[in-house]
Amino acid sequence: TEQPDVEVMPPDTVDAEAKERPVRISRLWFYARSHLRILLIGGTLTFFGGIVGLVQPVIAMSIIETLGDGDPLGNLLWILGGAVLVGAVLEAFGPYLMQRTGQNIILTVRRRLVSQLVHLTVPEVDRLKSGDLVSRLTSDTNLLRTVASTTVIGGLTAIFMLLGGLAVMAWIDLVLFAVTLSMAAVVTLVMLVVMPRIGAATRESQTALGDMGGILERLLGAFRTVKASGAEGREMASLDKAAVEARDKGVTVAVWEALAGVLAFLPVNIAFLVVLGLGGARVADGAMTIGSLIGFLLMLFYLMGPIGSLVQALSQLQTGLAAVARVEQVDHLDAEDLSDGAPTSAAGSSTEAARVEFDGVEFRYEADLAPVHRGVSFTATGTGLTALVGPSGAGKTTIFSLIEGFYPATAGTVRVDGRDIGDWPLRELRSMIGYVEQDAPVLHGTLRENLIMAAPEATDDDVARVVAQARLTDLVGRLPDGLDSAVGARGVTLSGGERQRVAIARALLRRPRLLLLDEATSQLDAANEAALRQVMLEAAGRTNVIVVAHRLSTVTSADQIVVLDAGRVRAIGTHADLLRTDDLYRDLATEQLLTAES
Ligand code: ADP
Ligand code: MG
Repeated sequence: TEQPDVEVMPPDTVDAEAKERPVRISRLWFYARSHLRILLIGGTLTFFGGIVGLVQPVIAMSIIETLGDGDPLGNLLWILGGAVLVGAVLEAFGPYLMQRTGQNIILTVRRRLVSQLVHLTVPEVDRLKSGDLVSRLTSDTNLLRTVASTTVIGGLTAIFMLLGGLAVMAWIDLVLFAVTLSMAAVVTLVMLVVMPRIGAATRESQTALGDMGGILERLLGAFRTVKASGAEGREMASLDKAAVEARDKGVTVAVWEALAGVLAFLPVNIAFLVVLGLGGARVADGAMTIGSLIGFLLMLFYLMGPIGSLVQALSQLQTGLAAVARVEQVDHLDAEDLSDGAPTSAAGSSTEAARVEFDGVEFRYEADLAPVHRGVSFTATGTGLTALVGPSGAGKTTIFSLIEGFYPATAGTVRVDGRDIGDWPLRELRSMIGYVEQDAPVLHGTLRENLIMAAPEATDDDVARVVAQARLTDLVGRLPDGLDSAVGARGVTLSGGERQRVAIARALLRRPRLLLLDEATSQLDAANEAALRQVMLEAAGRTNVIVVAHRLSTVTSADQIVVLDAGRVRAIGTHADLLRTDDLYRDLATEQLLTAES
């Protein structure tokens, strides 16, 4: 009989708790500071490109002024031509440097994120949506790049150009300047109101994208089940809902951005009309020359550029700050401090089987969830096989999580070699344990890479030894490139039993002092089952093996069986003892434990 072992997970809580909060602009400094030199060069070039552009209307104005004198334009035209050329070169090279630096900034941020991600604690990852994390690593970091490079410098340049332009205007004609300045004040006010809106809308839009990533990730993770259940429609609907949500949020951003654009340019256009009317009258009065008026109007036109870039920069800034908030949220998750644990291969000099003690252990995954363990005590010491059995959900797998230090016990103590798990340097603790998960995963890479993952310094002889021990010799022989064949997602697909034995070989390669084995619940053929049993028994002859047993053949060979039920240890004994004394065990053994099909 197939024993279902469905793990019910709590609903995602992380997003509800940790809404993305706005981040201060000063935070961008953190990302930009290590690239300061090249940013400054790029910024300076961009800046001078802008200044050269500023000079052009002034020169044009002089040209128009001199027209009446009947002088040849000669030199001024050359200067103007030169300014255009220099401006073009500067404006191409500056942004190139900025983009390049931007890419380097992303790299820095991604490295930080990745190192943060791999050091997250198991509870954190259990609670996260990994698809959302992926979007933080890709799209959010990309947004951050734009801000840290182009936006800040582009925005600053635009501000300088605006100030410069206004100064030139004041120099040309103070009355018209006053008109322009009052319009500029209106623009500023409007921006102060609109920009935070863009920021909020952008944060929501990025969150919606992250949610979509989360749904997609869960869909792909359960693809067969979805197919087999014919639930494509349901999945499509929830993906579609997320996509529509992302679109809506995106449109909201666009609305605010469009509004910002209109509200920024409208006052300038009004200024243009007023300047034209008022300036015309002043020219008629002889208060200003026609050349000055044209120069002033050219200046107004010219300022449209920086105003546009400023609006764009400010809204990009909002986007970038939203991205920083999402990236930094990962920073604030729990990360393990593994720095103190030195050894990475089998700890210390001892090769003796490790002693494991559970002493009145109580455990709950979350404060508001029911306890999984309500006082679990047992000891597994020396070489030999301890089997954990119990109904699904009894807390068997959780026992391994506590031994590995993934989660701390809520009360009571878990000791390895007499030392409380909390007192062990995690790296050292884990380096002496071989752990085979229930759904033994094969990671990307070759079979060899999969095996030496936990023991990179292993020799070919070591690998050959565990291949033989885990009865993988036949499999290796069948694979096209033997040990160097790609396996997993992008390679040969291995069966459940094969994956399990690869995982066992991986665990054995460390010469663990303790082997934790969570048996697969799926049916194995008789040959595979016999092989697995042999591997297990051989390992138990050398070291301390604790196995979450789903097979009759495992419990019959166990030195001791710990029967768990409803978070408590119900009985401890051998198969023969327990068959006589414990009715739950008798039921389990006769009805639920798997027997090999023959
Ligand atoms: P077993 O391996 O005996 O089937 P587990 O140790 O996997 O049981 O799980 C024990 C209980 O803890 C189950 O009710 C399960 O739903 C719950 N559980 C398992 N993992 C988590 C988790 N990460 N967060 C919250 N509850 C969990
Ligand atoms: Mg389990």
